[in-house]
Amino acid sequence: MQPLDYVAPRNLAEALGLLKAKGDRARVLSGGTDLIVQVREDKRRVALMIDVKRIPELMELRFEAGRGLTLGASVPCYQLYESPELVKAYPGLIDAAELIGGKQIQNRASFGGNVCNSSPAADSIPALIAHSAVCRIAGAGGTREVPIEDFCVGPGKNVLKANEMLVSFFIPSPPVRFGAHYLRFIPRNEMDIAVVGCGVSLELSRDHRKFVRARIALGAVAPTPLLVESAAALQNQEVSEETIARAALAAQGAARPITDMRGTAEYRRHLVGVLTKRALRKAIERAKEA
Ligand SMILES: Cc1cc2nc3c(=O)[nH]c(=O)nc-3n(C[C@H](O)[C@H](O)[C@H](O)COP(=O)(O)OP(=O)(O)OC[C@H]3O[C@@H](n4cnc5c(N)ncnc54)[C@H](O)[C@@H]3O)c2cc1C
Repeated sequence: MQPLDYVAPRNLAEALGLLKAKGDRARVLSGGTDLIVQVREDKRRVALMIDVKRIPELMELRFEAGRGLTLGASVPCYQLYESPELVKAYPGLIDAAELIGGKQIQNRASFGGNVCNSSPAADSIPALIAHSAVCRIAGAGGTREVPIEDFCVGPGKNVLKANEMLVSFFIPSPPVRFGAHYLRFIPRNEMDIAVVGCGVSLELSRDHRKFVRARIALGAVAPTPLLVESAAALQNQEVSEETIARAALAAQGAARPITDMRGTAEYRRHLVGVLTKRALRKAIERAKEA
């Protein structure tokens, strides 16, 4: 492995100062399940690793019912599904946390690292989009907020500047009769990258017969995970198989898949339809139980 320096600052100001001084030769380290692999394989040159897991804001996990969840960028996945109140409030996020790697990976891997690695197939991103997450970013010039659907700008690329880091996500509290689901298709049973991922969230009317609102997000079918804008048209539509089929068609229309070793563009487009229907049905079931 290439020689590099390692620091573990205890506050945000110190970490930001180091980032500013070293520029793109420094890299933030959360769980290291992407970064350490990439450095070991010489896919990334790094002079300084800034381990941010001792910084309180990066490890914050605070749920205020009726307001929302502050999820520190470096909080490992397992902390999400070990919290009964988060399991109830954020089912789509829990689905993604339980899918990333296996138990050992989930012990280290964070949503912040998954998002900053910015793979088009990253499992947490469609789930975060479905749950309307906002990214809180800090840099030398202050702080800013970016909706998660605008964070990635290309494969492995995102809106972070060299002197900025992702501090946390804010995810609003779900309303009543809310359901969400994230699922993916992979060629094998575990430990592979999504061929297609689909996250949805929705809110049902009091009598469960209409959609009050819905969000659909897709992974691995475009250069970045994407929000299906046309899914907003589900508002006030009947909860029926016909509406679900129309939503699946809209998702297929938004997808811009490529052909690669995991599947052809045509196959991926087909999967988008299948997964969108399954995700909506499951989210409806969850909303009825909520
Ligand atoms: C065996 C194995 C299985 C895997 N399975 C899956 C899977 O099923 N699904 C999936 O999506 N991924 C998978 N991954 C990839 C990886 O585990 C995830 O992307 C994970 O969520 C990364 O989080 P991390 O905390 O380990 O990030 P790190 O490796 O620490 O960081 C990843 C990148 O983000 C940057 N970064 C981290 N935190 C910040 C921050 N706060 N601000 C700015 N930049 C930051 C780092 O500099 C680095 O470039 C797998 C990896 C392995 C090794």
